[in-house]
Amino acid sequence: MYHQVERETDEDLTVSLENLEKQFQYLRKKNYKSKFFSELNPLGKKSIILTFDDGYKNNFNFLPSLLEKYDLKATIFIPTKFIQEGYKNYMMMNFEDIRNLDKNYFEIALHSHDHQNFRNISVDFIENDLQTNMQILDNENIGYSKVLAYPYGKFPKKRAEKMKVFSVLEKLGIEFAVRIGNKVNYIPTQKPFELCRIDIKGKDSLIKFKLKLIFGRLKLF
Ligand SMILES: [Zn+2]
Repeated sequence: MYHQVERETDEDLTVSLENLEKQFQYLRKKNYKSKFFSELNPLGKKSIILTFDDGYKNNFNFLPSLLEKYDLKATIFIPTKFIQEGYKNYMMMNFEDIRNLDKNYFEIALHSHDHQNFRNISVDFIENDLQTNMQILDNENIGYSKVLAYPYGKFPKKRAEKMKVFSVLEKLGIEFAVRIGNKVNYIPTQKPFELCRIDIKGKDSLIKFKLKLIFGRLKLF
């Protein structure tokens, strides 16, 4: 799981171009197979999905050449409100940027419209919000996979509430949803709405990256 890419960074959620290139190089060298969610079955060993959240303009600026160079693919999770109205003072992609991303290298997926924490809002709000997310992408003629990244990686903790959210996802035809969680996933999965993503931090060294890739986390015990 990545967010922003910049030439220089001291933020956790922003990876430097130099580090990202080292990581991509490593994936290539070790023969990792980069996939989209739409290609999830069957999945061989060493399959990875590279994901980028929120739709930052720097993704558009830096990723196409890098993905092409290392023959990798990425999924970008789009909260449509951030594209329409902006987010803090970050530069975001616009719908035309998203539409123009090369489909050989980019898959678009859902990140809710409003980017609210699913723990704090009603199931009805969630359903409406996800419908809005899909409707806007449809209207903008942007193809997407029915895969959701929970905003902030969060969904209700209590089982009853959680199951209500999951049944909304099912009803809307969403196939997978991803949270944050330092774990490697095995496919087929019993928990399609709780797939874990490993967060790659801005300052992670290549060794940390390798450990996360193999074990899903840094500490083994
Ligand atoms: Zn987000």
